[in-house]
Amino acid sequence: MPTDAAPLDPYALDRPGLRGFVADLGEPAYRADQISGWLVRGVDDPHEMTDLPAPLRSRLADRFAASRPELVAHTVADDGHTHKLLLRFPDGEAIETVLMLYPRRATVCISTQAGCAMGCPFCATGQAGFRRQLTAGEVVRQVLVADAALRTGAIAEARQAGADGAGTGAVVLPDDAPDHVTNVVYMGMGEPLANLPATLASVRWLNDPDGFRLSARGITVSTVGLVPGIERLAELRLPVTLAVSLHAATDELRDDLVPVNRTHPLAEVEAAMRDFRRVTNRRVSIEWCLIGEVNDDDVQADRLAAIARRQRAHVNVIPMNPTPGVRWKEPTPQRCRAFVERVRRGGAEITMRDTRGRDADAACGQLLASYTLGGGSRLPAAIGAAERVDGARR
Ligand code: SAH
Ligand code: SF4
Repeated sequence: MPTDAAPLDPYALDRPGLRGFVADLGEPAYRADQISGWLVRGVDDPHEMTDLPAPLRSRLADRFAASRPELVAHTVADDGHTHKLLLRFPDGEAIETVLMLYPRRATVCISTQAGCAMGCPFCATGQAGFRRQLTAGEVVRQVLVADAALRTGAIAEARQAGADGAGTGAVVLPDDAPDHVTNVVYMGMGEPLANLPATLASVRWLNDPDGFRLSARGITVSTVGLVPGIERLAELRLPVTLAVSLHAATDELRDDLVPVNRTHPLAEVEAAMRDFRRVTNRRVSIEWCLIGEVNDDDVQADRLAAIARRQRAHVNVIPMNPTPGVRWKEPTPQRCRAFVERVRRGGAEITMRDTRGRDADAACGQLLASYTLGGGSRLPAAIGAAERVDGARR
């Protein structure tokens, strides 16, 4: 194989793709199974693939290494419960992945695109526009990097560094936070169903029973309501948790808040949600970013309750995270409570999501907001024991 062959991300290949790649190298087909056996366990360094012959390991290392993202910063927030990992891919594109620790749960919030083309006016990612699709490999690696950081103790160490840092206060940690990733939410940058091949392929890797073994229900795919994508998920009978970002319960308002509603209006979105539930037997959840004096009134609350009842969907409310350049504000705490109470009285299940990572500008769904909109001025320092940045201190 010529050494100047293009770098290759093995996670961007599916099993048949891996078999083709191995055949091109003139290797027997079972090598593909050996390689994927390592990949599903998160081992992507061919030098560690000890059941491969040494010359093959070197050849693979030449091809694979260049696709690895570099962990350029690790920011700690929320008293050590939230870890923001900034990854840079070889082409220079940087994305953030957020790891949130709870008792017995470690959730990674991942991105599927650099930027987003959907243009929702309250979302920093949407405002910044679309840069490029991420590959399946780039999606999977966000989970692998977070998982490795947990398993190798880097997270525990960073929590400690946070605890020791000047003025950061004591770090209170759930003792029973797991040492590996248990849940994945596709709620970072981008619209997962506008990058369906990478989203589906990454779910398959994460769900692989021989490897990462995340249960499909522990994987949440959040969509703005791209109906063809939801239909495809239903067709595949993929029992992931589907979250639909509704934000408005009338087409008139939704056309403004979620521009793609002009192509796929509420009735279509509701029909797709119903089909998904029927086919997968999984309840869909509804996401509602609560914006002061925009979608927090009684009419919206009542209509939302009606939709949630019809869909037997659970509603998650997140007060809008204020974003530079967006004139809307989060509602007052009283208004939030009144809205939630009214939807509940309307017969729907509803909870207020916690606003993790706000003190580090890392609320899930708001990734790279400060980086993108601030022209990179708040890009955290490069990683290193002495350089680790604590979110609370910045
Ligand atoms: N594109 C997908 C997934 C990424 S956005 C989607 O829209 O569902 C993930 C979540 O972050 C969405 O529910 C989105 O509504 C929410 N979000 C976006 N901007 C926000 C803001 N300013 N404050 C709070 N939540 C926001
Ligand atoms: Fe894109 Fe989701 Fe932001 Fe809308 S809310 S712009 S779909 S990332």
